[in-house]
Amino acid sequence: MLRYLIVLLDDTSTSFCHYTASNKEPNLISLDILRKAIRWAMTENLTIQFVYPSHELLDEWNETIETIDHVKIKPATAASTSDADVVVFEGLEAIDMPLSKRDVSIVIRTRMSDFLDKHDRLHKLLAQANRLNVVFTDVDSFADDDQKAYDEALASLSLVVKNEYVNNHPVQFNLLTDRIMLTEMNNCGAGDSTITLAPDGQFYVCPAFYYDADGYPVGNIEGRLDIPNKQLYRLQYAPICRRCDAYQCHRCIWLNRKTTLEVNTPSHEQCVVAHIERNASRRLLEAIRQEGEFMSGTEIEEIDYLDPFEIARP
Ligand code: SF4
Repeated sequence: MLRYLIVLLDDTSTSFCHYTASNKEPNLISLDILRKAIRWAMTENLTIQFVYPSHELLDEWNETIETIDHVKIKPATAASTSDADVVVFEGLEAIDMPLSKRDVSIVIRTRMSDFLDKHDRLHKLLAQANRLNVVFTDVDSFADDDQKAYDEALASLSLVVKNEYVNNHPVQFNLLTDRIMLTEMNNCGAGDSTITLAPDGQFYVCPAFYYDADGYPVGNIEGRLDIPNKQLYRLQYAPICRRCDAYQCHRCIWLNRKTTLEVNTPSHEQCVVAHIERNASRRLLEAIRQEGEFMSGTEIEEIDYLDPFEIARP
């Protein structure tokens, strides 16, 4: 069931996920399309997430946005982030910027190699933030040779997270704590629970499908939403994912299509990364419990594979 509408306010709106926002020229959504988007979201009872560019919007756009409850996703480079719900940083270099609000969600987009080299830069942020999401911009190039280094990086960050929990600061960190908190799959829901409207007035399964040269629209705000084979975007139609328990996995529809040409079939790399996180979460849960009672009733089973496709094969 559709629950969220993502509205890209400009072609240069920040990416907050795996994709790169490749259109470099500013192209603001028209007021007419913005108003229609808000009306449509009200009619369909959807929560809107507005995705901002770095440059400021004109007053009329800001006033229109404020006519509906919403979430603001802003780049850290925006003129003002004090009203943002989510602030996106590009790379691990930029995160020394002061946080104006502790309760804001932080997203850091980084290459895997940078994360492996510089993950200790997250220590301070883990102590300050309430919610930190690290998103890899090159998951598809994750090599089997990177597995040990990723496992060790997460083990190192687990020590920091454990100390925060023991000291009554239960920071949420997507790579390590989401799997502990979740009891079922919680993926991005592109094309199922979430749809995106771009400045061109067209709907896309997610923002990546707008920026990618191979992307395609699925209807427009003047007409209607029309997703071909829409069942394929649902978890029930992903035969491996629906039986998987790496609940924190993004199960990125765009990466699926890019790497396997099927929206409901993930790549080996996406599964391995998600399972290394799952297993690190299991060890973190055990480590926190050594200090006292925590999440009683929650168990993460020990497994001996990193790619569910390997055990699914006959
Ligand atoms: S780890 Fe692989 S099988 Fe499991 S949800 Fe993610 S993409 Fe699907």
